[in-house]
Amino acid sequence: MAITIVGAGLGGLALARVLRMNGIDAVVYEKEPSRDARGQGGMLDLHAETGQRAMREAGLFDEFHAIARPEGQDLRLLEPDGTLLLQEDTPEDAPLDRPEVDRADLRNLLLDSLPEDAVRWGHAFEHADIGLLHFTDGSTAPYDLLVGADGADSRVRALLTDARPAHTGQNAIELGIPDIDRTHPDLAAMVGRGNYWVLGDGKSLSAQRNGDGRVRIYLSFYNTAEDWFATSGIPCDDPAAARARLIDLLADWDPRFTALIAACDDTVVPRSITTLPVGLTWPSTTGVTLLGDAAHLMPPVGQGANMALLDGALLGLALAAHPDDFPAAVKEYEREMFERTSVAGRLSARIQEILTSPDASQKMLAFFQPG
Ligand SMILES: Cc1cc2nc3c(=O)[nH]c(=O)nc-3n(C[C@H](O)[C@H](O)[C@H](O)COP(=O)(O)OP(=O)(O)OC[C@H]3O[C@@H](n4cnc5c(N)ncnc54)[C@H](O)[C@@H]3O)c2cc1C
Repeated sequence: MAITIVGAGLGGLALARVLRMNGIDAVVYEKEPSRDARGQGGMLDLHAETGQRAMREAGLFDEFHAIARPEGQDLRLLEPDGTLLLQEDTPEDAPLDRPEVDRADLRNLLLDSLPEDAVRWGHAFEHADIGLLHFTDGSTAPYDLLVGADGADSRVRALLTDARPAHTGQNAIELGIPDIDRTHPDLAAMVGRGNYWVLGDGKSLSAQRNGDGRVRIYLSFYNTAEDWFATSGIPCDDPAAARARLIDLLADWDPRFTALIAACDDTVVPRSITTLPVGLTWPSTTGVTLLGDAAHLMPPVGQGANMALLDGALLGLALAAHPDDFPAAVKEYEREMFERTSVAGRLSARIQEILTSPDASQKMLAFFQPG
């Protein structure tokens, strides 16, 4: 029985790894030509009960600990006028509740735990007939179970549901300061070891130190239209002019924050944030299922990768428990996944609502310090 996974992201690789640990081979088809073809983005915090549990099921918990950064849990929350509302520094002996890990390191850990030929690079899924996958280069592959782990813009999803991601009103721009300790020690001290958030009216800045000394910065604009990048006057293909325009858009913010933008290199990546409806389900269908963002794309507030990893691990365990009955395994997996991820989706939507609100910083403070 051939298990075929489309997408070598965190979820697809966690599934392949757990299957392998249970003596079941699966092939992962990935559209990128190699593991380094595309930057993997910044840091992720893996939660004890979801992402870390998946690493435990994958037999990679110690290896995960070796690459995790507990101090990355540090948090500073500020108002646009520079007022510090909250500072949480992680003590040396703190439990590893939500340690940060570099996404590329985590993906490499999963990739290295699989045999070389488990991932077939340069295979972009196009469509499926019953039992046969078709790739954009004209090649094909047989399958008994097809798992769509192909992320936010999943093509496999259409085999199960008509639902499509919709724009959330958030448009974000990613920037970054390389080697910040050496190039801008004052800004390095300001950002600290972990997360640095400034929440304003309809705008936010989040900066985060990465394992390689880079500080990755996201500037988000809320309640904006889907075509906002075309009308915002931010020339993303002209980094210096884009930085100048972004500084203009934050003219009423404390100059320390605009100094962060001025110090950035020429990385300018626009991201339009979309989500699937919270609680999306589909009738269980023989031979096809989804995991990760393909199944439940959420706002980027800390749940998506954790859910994708756990989806992969739990689907792997369900298939190992029912090796002769894939439909039963898929039903069991989907029942749990729908329930768990709709809870995570509702929590993410609540945080997104806070970020979007006029008094976002005070509401976020109350979220972190309830009562
Ligand atoms: C800016 C940002 C910050 C985030 N921060 C966090 C965070 O701090 N914590 C957290 O938990 N989550 C975070 N997320 C969400 C998280 O990144 C995703 O939920 C997670 O990566 C989903 O994993 P996945 O395996 O489902 O999909 P992906 O990681 O997107 O992997 C999908 C894979 O499928 C491949 N693929 C796509 N189409 C095809 C095709 N047709 N054929 C073959 N292969 C294909 C892609 O190339 C990719 O390798 C963030 C997201 C964003 C955008």
